[in-house]
Amino acid sequence: MKVPLLDLKSQYQDIKEEVLAEVSELCDSQMFILGAKVEKLEEEIAEYCQTPGSVGVSSGSDALIIALMAENVGVGDEVITTPFTFFATAGAICRVGATPVFVDIDPKTFNINPELIEEKITNKTKAIMPVHLFGQPCDMNPIMEIANKYNLVVIEDACQAIGTEYKGRRVGSIGDYGAFSFFPSKNLGCFGDGGIVSVRDEEKIQRMKIFRNHGMDPKYYHKYIGGNFRIDALQAAILSIKLRHLDDWSAQRSVNAEEYNQLFANSKIADKITLPYKADYTTRHIYNQYSILVKNGKRDELKDYLWANGVGCDVYYPVPLHMQECFADLGYKVGDLPVSEQVAKEIISIPIYPETTTEQREIVVKTIEDFLLK
Ligand SMILES: *Cc1c(COP(=O)(O)O)cnc(C)c1O
Repeated sequence: MKVPLLDLKSQYQDIKEEVLAEVSELCDSQMFILGAKVEKLEEEIAEYCQTPGSVGVSSGSDALIIALMAENVGVGDEVITTPFTFFATAGAICRVGATPVFVDIDPKTFNINPELIEEKITNKTKAIMPVHLFGQPCDMNPIMEIANKYNLVVIEDACQAIGTEYKGRRVGSIGDYGAFSFFPSKNLGCFGDGGIVSVRDEEKIQRMKIFRNHGMDPKYYHKYIGGNFRIDALQAAILSIKLRHLDDWSAQRSVNAEEYNQLFANSKIADKITLPYKADYTTRHIYNQYSILVKNGKRDELKDYLWANGVGCDVYYPVPLHMQECFADLGYKVGDLPVSEQVAKEIISIPIYPETTTEQREIVVKTIEDFLLK
């Protein structure tokens, strides 16, 4: 592989000693569930995300589920979201018994189109779940205006967007809740599964902590029906170390994206692809992915060509959620959400992780150029 889509080993080499010292300390303590390491991470993430508090949980998916549960969203309720996201966004809505209502995306940012939300609101609508896809924020002001007008909860799916800023504000601090994932491939990844919920309303922080631990407060007295949504102390300890490096890593992704923009602009294929769009309101983009659109139905062939020539790539996401087999009962048809359907046919993501080199980016652009000029 000349340029893998992601290589976590080089990042690990840079922080190995710090990490192993923490892991060793934790193993000596044998204190694996919640505790001081988790509390420390929760404070650090709250500060990083500009919220009064955060609650460490077992994954990004569980972060979404616990926020819905804490707001009593369930059977008979509708939650408005985007069809162009990872499955977990809508999966979480269904897991609590509610129904996802899909709203088409903006063709430039690939995020939910706020102009199309209001027409989908019914008397069953309880929440809006916008997703900050690939590290770019949704247009949050109009979304918050609609939520306030109809008294809806806003749960930001910020699983791909830790540190992303909308008009100078960190995502996860704008809606009522922000869900973050520490899956290893995210900008801030742990050594397994993990996640966190940022909470805007200070009074809800304690409630979320109780929910995370079977709704138990005090021990063996159950206030709510919660669940086991706890994050491991081991993961929290590792994340506290990695968090110190996150701004450098995100800045490097941004530099890499700029370099790709230049290389593509100077290539012979500038008219055959669409580069990632950065909205005016995006004051900080963290480029969890760098995704381009390929015209003329050539995307799948390009993907095979890149892999055959040593360049890692992937399609996020080939099937919009309203067209997934598991959601057939929702009754959507081809053509219902045309922008999502078109983008799903044209999009492809290429290597952007911090440790990639200029030489590797030149190889990626040249390989795409070779294919599209064939
Ligand atoms: C990764 C991701 C999730 C789920 O996070 P996990 O930690 O893997 O459960 C949810 N939504 C989006 C948009 C994601 O990218």
